[in-house]
Amino acid sequence: MGRVTVVVVCCAALAAGVAAAVVVCRRVKRGGKCGKANGIMKEFEEKCRTPAAKLKQVADAMTVEMHAGLASEGGSKLKMIISYVDNLPTGDEKGTYYALDLGGTNFRVLRVHLGGKGVGLINQEFAEVSIPPHLMTGTSDALFDYIAAELGKFVSQESEEFKLSPGRQRELGFTFSFPVMQTSINTGTLVRWTKGFSIDELVGRDVVEELSRAMAKQGLDMSVSALVNDTVGTLAGGRYTNKDVVAAVILGTGSNAAYVERAQAIPKWHGVPSKSGEMVINMEWGDFRSSHLSLSEYDNALDAESLNPGEQIFEKMISGMYLGEIVRRVLLRMAQEAAFFGDTVPPKLEVPFALRTPDMSAMHHDTSSDLKVVETKLKDILEISSTSLSMRKTIVELCNIVATRGARLAAAGILGVLKKMGRDAAKDGDKQKTVIAMDGGLYEHYAEYSKCLENTLEELLGEELFKNIVIEHSNDGSGIGAALLAASHSKYLQDE
Ligand code: ADP
Ligand code: MG
Repeated sequence: MGRVTVVVVCCAALAAGVAAAVVVCRRVKRGGKCGKANGIMKEFEEKCRTPAAKLKQVADAMTVEMHAGLASEGGSKLKMIISYVDNLPTGDEKGTYYALDLGGTNFRVLRVHLGGKGVGLINQEFAEVSIPPHLMTGTSDALFDYIAAELGKFVSQESEEFKLSPGRQRELGFTFSFPVMQTSINTGTLVRWTKGFSIDELVGRDVVEELSRAMAKQGLDMSVSALVNDTVGTLAGGRYTNKDVVAAVILGTGSNAAYVERAQAIPKWHGVPSKSGEMVINMEWGDFRSSHLSLSEYDNALDAESLNPGEQIFEKMISGMYLGEIVRRVLLRMAQEAAFFGDTVPPKLEVPFALRTPDMSAMHHDTSSDLKVVETKLKDILEISSTSLSMRKTIVELCNIVATRGARLAAAGILGVLKKMGRDAAKDGDKQKTVIAMDGGLYEHYAEYSKCLENTLEELLGEELFKNIVIEHSNDGSGIGAALLAASHSKYLQDE
């Protein structure tokens, strides 16, 4: 696996092995501060190592936690939430349905027109709005009123053809991508917030009730037929077009996974019959933790200063909200203790979350010989005006270390899920495809990350087995999936 794509680093040696590093450090003791900065990075790189043997331990730990979470409520950090989705879309769904996708930085409102058997998706329209940051930590009413108002705008702009027959309400699938303890397909209470949201009063309340109240206030005649999260929505959306989809992974602002479990293998479900004998499980894998993850001091500090300390440790190592922030923390240490940027520490570098993952990704992908993009990003974002080429190379290498660790750990998580589904080993003559629907801005836009994830999965599974595994990018599948689930759980189904 190409762990190091850009190897030339400050004073030319970080990745060149111990002997070279020693030589460099000696030279630097005489010549400047560069060696100390290299030492800081080397130590971090060492902590971040993820050899295959360690990743297999992570995967095994994931499988063990999955079993424990299915056995009893609270049996594991992994909540293994029963989604109440026991029938995935078949392709026969018909009619116009809506979806609302709230889960991170943006929310989307969608309308899909489903043609029924043999026809499929006729069209979809959507509007995307970014969530004003003050609503993420404000009041429940403020958040839901805002969402309902945007939904109201979307509906009011639609043409006559979408007018429903008298007495019929519009139906909505609500993708709410935070840990929710579901009590039915369209009820569930918020367990806790993640990804920078923090509205205490909503914890423990039914999110569908809150949305319904806000919609009524807006005069919107609409009902919520399905409450899902992005992983369950993506799985449903993926299955609609490919019957081999059995799991979904999200790598966006946060990270999570869902998969299809045998109902019998869910002891805490107490044998309640499921129509299909299956049940989609929302793992909430972001909260996974294991001693094999080997956290660095930077991860520990990031966690301690976060809105949710002690929680979502796996997510904080692999997802888009945090990768840039880890890079910033290492750079800050290099600036403070090794004067990496000169005698003063750039003030902007001290601001939490100042370096966002898309900017980190842009620097990591800089292919210009003089690393112009890195230079510009440092100038624009951190107000660091003069950097040498070797400094910029060091920064690219640091991005590579953080992205590589994240991608490799995410691959180990996927291996854990494949193991739980019994799809990690060859069975005689088995050519069964296992398709994982994947979505999220991190996976979609951070090419070095997604390439590394796929290479690592191949490294872990071996070439032969990997041939049967397909990672399918499902662009915005979570919204469509929620609309499909609203269709399959429509209250008017019996009437048709
Ligand atoms: P959400 O997870 O908020 O529902 P997305 O799936 O669109 O939304 O993911 C958005 C996240 O993806 C951003 O918060 C960011 O971390 C990451 N991201 C977006 N663009 C890029 C990029 N160009 N490079 C790396 N990461 C990106
Ligand atoms: Mg999303």
